[in-house]
Amino acid sequence: MRIPQERLEKYRNLKREFSEEDHVNLQPIQRGGVLSEEAMRAIIEFGDGYSTCDWCPPKSARLDMIEKPPIKDFYNDLAEFLGMDLARVVTRCREAKFIAFRMLGAPGDYVVVDGLAHYSSYIAAELAGLKVKEVPVGGPPEYKVDLDAYAAKIEEVKGETGRLPAAVLLTHVDYQYGNVNDAEVVGKIARDYGVPFILNCAYSAGVMPVDGKNVQADVITGSGHKSWAASAPTGILALRKSLEEKLLRRASIQGDLTSRSFVSKELALLGCTVMGAPLLTLIASFPAVVERIEKWDEEVQKARFFVGELERIQGVKQVGDRPKRHTLIHFETEPFFRVSQSHKRKGYFLYDELRARKIVGIQPGLTKHFKLNTYGLTWEQVRYAAQAFLEIAEKYGLEVR
Ligand SMILES: *Cc1c(COP(=O)(O)O)cnc(C)c1O
Repeated sequence: MRIPQERLEKYRNLKREFSEEDHVNLQPIQRGGVLSEEAMRAIIEFGDGYSTCDWCPPKSARLDMIEKPPIKDFYNDLAEFLGMDLARVVTRCREAKFIAFRMLGAPGDYVVVDGLAHYSSYIAAELAGLKVKEVPVGGPPEYKVDLDAYAAKIEEVKGETGRLPAAVLLTHVDYQYGNVNDAEVVGKIARDYGVPFILNCAYSAGVMPVDGKNVQADVITGSGHKSWAASAPTGILALRKSLEEKLLRRASIQGDLTSRSFVSKELALLGCTVMGAPLLTLIASFPAVVERIEKWDEEVQKARFFVGELERIQGVKQVGDRPKRHTLIHFETEPFFRVSQSHKRKGYFLYDELRARKIVGIQPGLTKHFKLNTYGLTWEQVRYAAQAFLEIAEKYGLEVR
């Protein structure tokens, strides 16, 4: 069918809601995915469809074998950087989890997950035909996952099914409170039971140091667009050599007429995964990522400073780990909610006030509690954003200490 030109007009000149250059963006999922300059250039260079495939080796035709651009070397360096043996780039963190669940489990098996796991962990389990057993989360104000309870949950699965769970998954840093879990505790429990340990590093690897070897992770999953200064969709699947045969099993199917087979293709990766621009942004940002994780302590200092400033507003309270050990911050902000009740814009007043000060990223309409992320902002931007919240509080007569 022919689409009339005037209907196509809106597709021609696409613009983002705001520009990163002249706004302070506090959006929790966006801070770690701001592109490096090298990645910006890679998008232009490799924007064409299968642009990575110029030098695909004819025998082992597979993305991870390509040496020009240096994809093969990158996969090796990526694995080493994470303290793992092998790495693959997939479309998203959730796909990495799905691949791990699907290849480690059989339908009906359990996977043990922390009660703060991301929704995509549950969906990945469901699509892989697995059931979940949740490890409980403690109450306010810290909402800590009871890591020792992984042992009891593994026992529970054993009692119920007569089998061990297919895997245990720990969310290294959760999306709700930005709490950093001690992965070593779960790594040890998993090792004692001989259950594969999947560490979901969507909010950690790429922004802070992660050493899979140290914590005895069997699989690490990561998100390029969340934490590696890369475009979407990019995810990371890193694993121990001992799981290579399971997770990266080759295809064995054969055509019944042609007898064609595809023995070099990795089954769960459907042969090749992310080709073209998104993969190349991840690669181009890698040197910057290797460097930036060394400055994690300072990023945490900025987050703590921000918490200290906002808590000068009477009634505003940071929940989760205290003091902060990550830059994703969850605030309870009852006083702003009280303001919203009598404001003609209701909950949107806070968004409006921030937006007027060129600050974005707090979910529009939210005032009772909200999340934000200070990762990668300059000190000047962090001070400016904190000052803006204090100004808004004073404007509406809230008490500021
Ligand atoms: C954001 C997030 C994900 C999703 O990452 P994708 O790469 O978009 O699949 C998974 N897990 C956690 C803990 C997250 O915070």
